[in-house]
Amino acid sequence: MPAHFPSRYSAVTLLMQAFKGHRDWQPQWPDAEPKAEYDVIIVGAGGHGLGAAYYLAKEHGITNVAVIDKGWLGGGNTGRNTTIIRSNYLYDESARLYDHALDLWDGLSQELNYNVMYSRRGVMMLAHNVHDVQSAQRHIHANRLNGVDNKWITAEEAKRICPPLNIDPAARHPVLGAAYQARAGTARHDAVAWGYARGAAARGVDIIQNCPVTAIRRGADGAVTGVETARGFIGAKKVAVSAAGHTSVLMDSAGVRMPLESYPLQALVSEPVKPCFPCVVMSNTVHAYISQSDKGELVIGSGTDQYTSYSQRGGLPLIEHTVAAICEIFPVFSRMKMLRKWGGIVDVTPDRSAILGKTPVPGLFVNCGWGTGGFKATPGAAHLLAHTVATGEPHDINAPFTLERFTTGRLIDEAAAAAVAH
Ligand SMILES: Cc1cc2nc3c(=O)[nH]c(=O)nc-3n(C[C@H](O)[C@H](O)[C@H](O)COP(=O)(O)OP(=O)(O)OC[C@H]3O[C@@H](n4cnc5c(N)ncnc54)[C@H](O)[C@@H]3O)c2cc1C
Repeated sequence: MPAHFPSRYSAVTLLMQAFKGHRDWQPQWPDAEPKAEYDVIIVGAGGHGLGAAYYLAKEHGITNVAVIDKGWLGGGNTGRNTTIIRSNYLYDESARLYDHALDLWDGLSQELNYNVMYSRRGVMMLAHNVHDVQSAQRHIHANRLNGVDNKWITAEEAKRICPPLNIDPAARHPVLGAAYQARAGTARHDAVAWGYARGAAARGVDIIQNCPVTAIRRGADGAVTGVETARGFIGAKKVAVSAAGHTSVLMDSAGVRMPLESYPLQALVSEPVKPCFPCVVMSNTVHAYISQSDKGELVIGSGTDQYTSYSQRGGLPLIEHTVAAICEIFPVFSRMKMLRKWGGIVDVTPDRSAILGKTPVPGLFVNCGWGTGGFKATPGAAHLLAHTVATGEPHDINAPFTLERFTTGRLIDEAAAAAVAH
């Protein structure tokens, strides 16, 4: 199929379309029919998979690529998350990885000619007790050594940045201060998937939706030969699995056992109100995080259920716990109505760090284990996955994020470093 060239979005295009009654807009991407064979197949049309296809085409000239999804593109965790973007992780490896992503977020709207609404509104992580203060300070020092911006702010400074915050010292969860990354923020999740899809399709990538991949096939020499799908076998010498909570099932079909557990993670939104919440606030201790969308809804994140599941919905007790915590920290919101809640299936590794690289199967690559915090990594992970697939070797930045670290013991233990990884 020839490459699809959508019009470039600009004020001029908008004006010209207005004169034509907006009847001439082209589809952002065509719904492709699968070919018999591709150079590369990416399983999973989330932000990571679509982004990898985009960078494969743009930076490596590999355009005979299919991105295959069992549902609609962006319908997985990419379209279900609370969009917190930050890079103040503890370990050197993580700091490099997430800062690489943050650098790419900066110019992403221009790069894709698509407004991903990246907003550097600042993320603060509250400290409620002495342990929180010590842990936050440790993160801040480590981040600064890595050139990542993160600073300690007092409770009063936190209140100045975020007026609805309750800093009454008699509160059940008193605010003793916060770690604050000013460069961090949020973006519009759907737009990230749509922007990458449009950019990839424009360069000739096939995006195949509503086509579950049922198994990964290997040849007699053990190397990948392609994937079985609901629309039959599709051949490829390189397959990259980027299927978040469903990765372990797919990898199992190729004979690769993954150190992953899949849990529902929930979020909810309130009724829309006028702008009242100018930043993002996270509280790891009470496990709640909150921001305000451009539509005006308060976007509230909860925790993972205690049990593994593929149900894409979570238990009510967690939501109740989260809302109770939000009301304690922001009493001003206690009479707001909640509009809807949902869940996504997150893929959690034992050390809460991603796996991005080669596998023991020749031609098979994997990008997973982003768990509760992979949206922020989207451009970085996509960029690095494309590099790894194109060259057959990991980039320096993702080289430590191997599958083998769970046998060699070289873990990147963000699990112990932070109770929450959003
Ligand atoms: C409620 C919630 C809140 C979150 N909050 C944050 C946050 O604030 N900040 C942050 O950084 N991260 C957050 N995350 C995590 C983040 O959403 C994910 O880590 C990230 O979006 C993963 O992107 P992805 O492209 O790898 O996966 P996905 O977007 O899930 O894409 C994987 C795709 O694979 C497809 N797929 C699965 N199985 C198959 C198959 N057999 N065949 C074909 N296709 C298949 C799925 O349909 C899906 O579209 C949150 C997640 C949730 C659920």
